[in-house]
Amino acid sequence: MSDIKSKIRTVPNWPKEGIMFRDITTLIKDPEGLKLSVDDFVARYKEMNIDVVVGIDSRGFIMGGAIAYLLNKGFVPVRKKGKLPAETESVEYELEYGTDCVEIHKDAISQGQRVVIVDDLIATGGTALAAAELVKKLGGEIVEFAFVVDLPDVGGSKKLKNAGLPYYAQTVFEGD
Ligand code: AMP
Repeated sequence: MSDIKSKIRTVPNWPKEGIMFRDITTLIKDPEGLKLSVDDFVARYKEMNIDVVVGIDSRGFIMGGAIAYLLNKGFVPVRKKGKLPAETESVEYELEYGTDCVEIHKDAISQGQRVVIVDDLIATGGTALAAAELVKKLGGEIVEFAFVVDLPDVGGSKKLKNAGLPYYAQTVFEGD
C-alpha cells in the first residue's frame, strides 16, 4: 500500500487554510496506481459475496465503477441533492457550516442485497454515514465501506467503528 500512498498528492491549504487536501487524481492518472488500487479492492470483495457496489459522488464513482465492472456486479451512485431523475430517498447531514444532502434512487437496491460503499476518502465521516442511512432505508446490508484514504485524526473512521459499520482503507494519513 506504500506504492498507493506515494502516488497521492498532498495540496496544503486547499480548498481553505489549514486543510491538507489528499488528491487521488495523481494516483488514478498513473496506470500502475489505478490498477494497484482497483485490483486490491477487487481481490478483497471477490471473497465477500457482494451484490452491489455503491459509489459516493463524485470520486467514489471512479473507483466504484471500476470495482463493480471487475466484480461483474452493478454500480449504484449516491449523488448530491437534485441530480437523480427518478424517485429518490434522501438524507441530510451536518457540515461544519450548514447541512448537505445526498440521494439514491428508491429502486437502486433491493431488500437484503449485500452492498459495499466506495469513496476516495473518509474525513469527518458525515458523507459516509449519510450514504449508509440511504442504503439501510432501501433494505441493503452494508458489508463494508471501502476508502483509498483514511484521515483518522478527523474522526470519521472511529464514528463508523462506533456505529458498527466495518470499513477498509488502503492508506492512512495521520499526524501530518
Ligand atoms: P467527510 O464527509 O468529512 O468524511 O468528507 C468526505 C468527502 O470529502 C470525501 O468524499 C472526500 O472526497 C472529501 N474530503 C474531505 N476532506 C478531504 C481532504 N483532506 N482531502 C481530500 N478530500 C477530502
